[in-house]
Amino acid sequence: MSKEIYLDGNATTCVLPAAIDAAVQAMRDCFGNPSSTHATGLKAKAMMDTVRQRAKRLLGVGGGRIMFNSGATEGIQTAVLSALCALRERRERGESIGRLLVYGATEHKAVPEALAHWNRLLGLQLELKKLAVDGDGRHDLDALRALAPQAAFVCTMAANNETGVVSDLAGIAAALEGSQALWMVDCVQGLGKLALDLGDTRIDYAPFSGHKLYAPKGIGMLYVREGAPYTPLVMGGGQEAGLRSGTENMAGIAALGAVLAALEEGDTFRSPAELHGFREKLAASLRKALPGIVFNAPFEKALPTTLNFSVPGLSSKELLDVFDAANVRVSAGSACSAAKAAPSYVLDAMGLPAWRSSSAVRMSFGPLASAEVINEACARIERCGQALREAGMLDTPTSGASVPEGVLQLSLGGNHSWLLLDAATRQCIAIDHQAELAERIDSLLRSHGYQLAARLTTRDGEGWAAAGDSIAFGPHTLRRVALAGGRYAYLLCSGEKVDYAFTGLAPLAALEGRVPADALLCAGREEVNACCTSLRAEAQAAAISTDVNLDSVTLARLLAAHPNAVLVDVREAYEQAACIPGGRRAQSVPLSRLAAFVPAWLGAAEQAPLVFFCRSGNRSAKAAQCLRRLGYRQAYHLSGGIALAAPGLALAA
Ligand code: PLP
Repeated sequence: MSKEIYLDGNATTCVLPAAIDAAVQAMRDCFGNPSSTHATGLKAKAMMDTVRQRAKRLLGVGGGRIMFNSGATEGIQTAVLSALCALRERRERGESIGRLLVYGATEHKAVPEALAHWNRLLGLQLELKKLAVDGDGRHDLDALRALAPQAAFVCTMAANNETGVVSDLAGIAAALEGSQALWMVDCVQGLGKLALDLGDTRIDYAPFSGHKLYAPKGIGMLYVREGAPYTPLVMGGGQEAGLRSGTENMAGIAALGAVLAALEEGDTFRSPAELHGFREKLAASLRKALPGIVFNAPFEKALPTTLNFSVPGLSSKELLDVFDAANVRVSAGSACSAAKAAPSYVLDAMGLPAWRSSSAVRMSFGPLASAEVINEACARIERCGQALREAGMLDTPTSGASVPEGVLQLSLGGNHSWLLLDAATRQCIAIDHQAELAERIDSLLRSHGYQLAARLTTRDGEGWAAAGDSIAFGPHTLRRVALAGGRYAYLLCSGEKVDYAFTGLAPLAALEGRVPADALLCAGREEVNACCTSLRAEAQAAAISTDVNLDSVTLARLLAAHPNAVLVDVREAYEQAACIPGGRRAQSVPLSRLAAFVPAWLGAAEQAPLVFFCRSGNRSAKAAQCLRRLGYRQAYHLSGGIALAAPGLALAA
């Protein structure tokens, strides 16, 4: 297996070796309770005090306080609770307070959610007001200036987690001049990347999170300005000088201390100039690999460690899949469900077009990155570009890559379009061609030199130009069959035998008597079947065992017991091509082409065990279920996919 290249540092980072050592040491040698007054406790307290002092120096907190907590979500709650309690008290004393809780439109969800929650719980009934950002992702300072007199509390961030855009904190402070508003700045993405002299600012609260900068999950810090109002979120034994009760996470604090020491001593992390150089390299490789790529935030206004981009014609899922196949971990710039990517509210707020917002990818690294890792990442990015090009995904001519032929399924949002491809004549017939897939289909056909001969619909039979009910298609015949309700099915036949029936949304009952029991039904929606089925399979489905799951151990046993077992990689061609070669031999059958391979498997004299696999086990489960339903008893899949496979299995990745 090739080594993983982790480029998702804004989600979380690995743990710095020195931080692991510090955590282990804290657990093994310095395990005392820092509240105990005996020597063991005092030793633990001394360690904690050292870390706190280091944090105070690094963040330039002046007379302000640093408290340890579980992470930024807790820090945000504490800051919001503190500010809102103070506002309520001021109001109860008859003092005037602003009526607005202002938050940046691109804040992490924890901020507006915490504001709404505590505003409701405390019965304040203040108005939540989203502060717009401009096309570069920076806060609209004119709008803030206008809101400032009515603002009770303002929440902004130091740098954005999706785009890396760095806020103009001095500009925000200037816009707030004269306003009574309290101010929280979410500094999670800024730690170790931006100079933060908090004590010199009017910032009241600044939450931090350890796991975004090489400390473990579950440790964070909150800065509170000297004199800023404070209400504990957790009451109890009075730890953290009463600011946050509960015995401290000493292993986490020790680990965070090691990271802060590395920052302070300055010999562990890359310099800003080196980080800028890394971004330039990655961007150059991305531009070379992915023609038409657009970066979604201006580099000069963003952290050098975050690249957010979109590629015309490619979804974030496709890009994530191809990068994952090359063992490069990146993340969708937006919440991505299996079927459709939701647009990113951050990019929406910046006013970017919908396609960029819903297909964005974020590549982020931390200041521990090395030139070797970045160079290897660049090589793999270029490999991914090549893989996408050869699969016809980039609308560029392919260089002799294998030409798809037979039946091909393209799915979007659970709806299936089917392409019939005759390689000899390079003719294609599309059935239930979805408008949203038009570009994808066009580029696929163009890249492989296919021509779209017809677009047929099952809904009303539109697109059928022939006079009769049958046309020749390469060595096959395509027949049209009328169904109830004005619908049509299309039958692809070899001589008299019906191989495939494209049936759109017609219910199975409507096909009885119109379609032979063993023809492979290729439906228009996922509910009917993820890939293909048959009337006979559906009639017998209840009696068939659908337990197709194998884990690494049962798969290894099956492979040992059945040397003739066939591993089938159902990832798409571009993912397979992006894999670093090596590992066990596997047959390549992208899920989109499964239907084309099913007849040969079903017709084989001897049914060898078939074990499907993919990245996460989602697609391979569909393939195995499909084969089982069609009567192939020995169809299995690797549950959890390559992601969870034991390294000993050596599946190509
Ligand atoms: N704020 C920002 C900007 C973040 O990126 C994150 C983490 O994704 C958080 C807050 C929440 O941090 P934590 O995971 O420590 O609760």
